[in-house]
Amino acid sequence: MIRYDDIVIGSGISGMTMSLILAMNGHKVLLIEKGPYIGGSMARFSKRGIPFDTGFHFTGGLHKGGILDDILSVLDMHDGIEPVFMSDDDANSFVFENDGKRYDMPYGIEKLKLRMKAYFPEEACGIDSYFDKVQNVCKGTPSMSLGTLLNKFDPLQEDYITCEEVLTGITANPVLKALFSTFAMCYGVKPNEISFANHSRISYGLYESVARVKNGGAAFIDAFEAKFRQYDVEVRCGCHVTGMTEIRENMAGRFILNTGEEISATNCIFTIHPKEVLKVMPEQQVSKAFRARVSAFEPSAGCFSIFGVLDPGFDEPGYGSKLVTLLPGTDFNQMLDPFNEGDSALILVKTLEQVGEKKHKVIVAIEPSFPEQVEAWKDSQVGRRPEAYKEYKEKKVEHLLNRIYKYFPGYRGKLSVSDAASVLTFRDYLHNNDGSSYGVKQKIGQFNLRGRLPVKNCYAAGQSSILPGVIGAMMSSLIVAQSLVKEDDYAKFLNRRPRR
Ligand SMILES: Cc1cc2nc3c(=O)[nH]c(=O)nc-3n(C[C@H](O)[C@H](O)[C@H](O)COP(=O)(O)OP(=O)(O)OC[C@H]3O[C@@H](n4cnc5c(N)ncnc54)[C@H](O)[C@@H]3O)c2cc1C
Repeated sequence: MIRYDDIVIGSGISGMTMSLILAMNGHKVLLIEKGPYIGGSMARFSKRGIPFDTGFHFTGGLHKGGILDDILSVLDMHDGIEPVFMSDDDANSFVFENDGKRYDMPYGIEKLKLRMKAYFPEEACGIDSYFDKVQNVCKGTPSMSLGTLLNKFDPLQEDYITCEEVLTGITANPVLKALFSTFAMCYGVKPNEISFANHSRISYGLYESVARVKNGGAAFIDAFEAKFRQYDVEVRCGCHVTGMTEIRENMAGRFILNTGEEISATNCIFTIHPKEVLKVMPEQQVSKAFRARVSAFEPSAGCFSIFGVLDPGFDEPGYGSKLVTLLPGTDFNQMLDPFNEGDSALILVKTLEQVGEKKHKVIVAIEPSFPEQVEAWKDSQVGRRPEAYKEYKEKKVEHLLNRIYKYFPGYRGKLSVSDAASVLTFRDYLHNNDGSSYGVKQKIGQFNLRGRLPVKNCYAAGQSSILPGVIGAMMSSLIVAQSLVKEDDYAKFLNRRPRR
């Protein structure tokens, strides 16, 4: 029997990052994926030869010296990942659907402040105060930079105050407050539930720069696969752990697979949903309190997505250079409420996808959605859903298209919908517990699963452990890997900056 140093469970961006870090540090690694292919939310799918991204559309941190740029340097992965920056003058347009008022936001914090002050001259002090607070949180958080990642982290005052409280203290203007809150869409938690610190940590990168990546999530998967070949990471798809055995002194000696095979490993790192982790922890090793804590974790928002393509002849100057978000109102607490019966924010991600000689104008429209909204069909599986579910999807697509046509009337008759996905689609393809887009809710006062678990050679990383998004998920692996690689070796590893 092969003995591995580490088994990594789940091959999303967290599991791929974790596997590579460990392999680059000399460990023998087995990466296990329940689905038929690796990549998790990074995976693309194709319809009639046109590729669509599912869970990775844009990110911050890819500018020179940004956090994601640094992570790619340490992993020596720049070659495969080509950033496509959005227009730095109006990367993000926010349109309020009730009065049609549009706010075009650049990136770069100083430019952003100037633009906001031009829109809201009477709120200049509040705007400065907001960005100072966001920057202070990020400066005070060691994991916001690889140079300080190993420093001790003491929670900040802002970890105990909700985003809502801080914003209310800064401004009474509901539109400005909404514009400060917009990146709640990138973590799927209401402003009155998330801490201002976590709101800042996630939003900061997107204030600094906004980029897509050429070939989207597939570029990451391809780059990781090449590295896995270089560092001998073994990958098994269609595989999951069903239990643990040879438990001695709170450590598992072997991990049982769905195939019945038993794998021997020193450590096992879970990068999957915490409730899925709970299912494989031996009953006797898990206290009632631990079980209750994990069972009580609430899901972040999920998404309803439409995947469409514009007619080849349709012309739009600057296509693909900015994100547009349609806002039905200013109240993000309402828009991110599972029982909200009205519309929610709708992000339109437009990309030019090159296939052979042709460039396709792709649109992915994403609206927050919740398990509660598809409760009636929760027991159905992908490919075998009842008619009523199909009708729900059709109605939803029609409604979202009408919202899009109201703002982009030229798209009517030119936009063909290739597919649509609900919370249940994401749940089933990503093998997660509830279809949430960002894992467990980042809720103030809640201690998510991170690092060592009750079985002491098992660890938790992934989007639910630190922060969601590609950066948060990769950082979770960089943070948890500290416990698995020798201290001096790890410090050297984090400092390496191979060729650029
Ligand atoms: C619609 C949508 C849009 C998004 N847009 C963006 C965006 O534009 N930018 C951004 O930064 N982030 C975005 N996100 C969030 C981002 O995709 C996630 O935060 C991140 O990719 C999560 O990575 P992960 O590895 O932690 O989890 P996942 O990507 O969910 O990967 C988990 C993997 O584990 C596998 N698995 C599950 N259970 C088991 C098991 N028992 N055994 C083995 N394998 C298992 C799953 O099949 C999956 O492959 C979006 C998410 C969604 C859903």
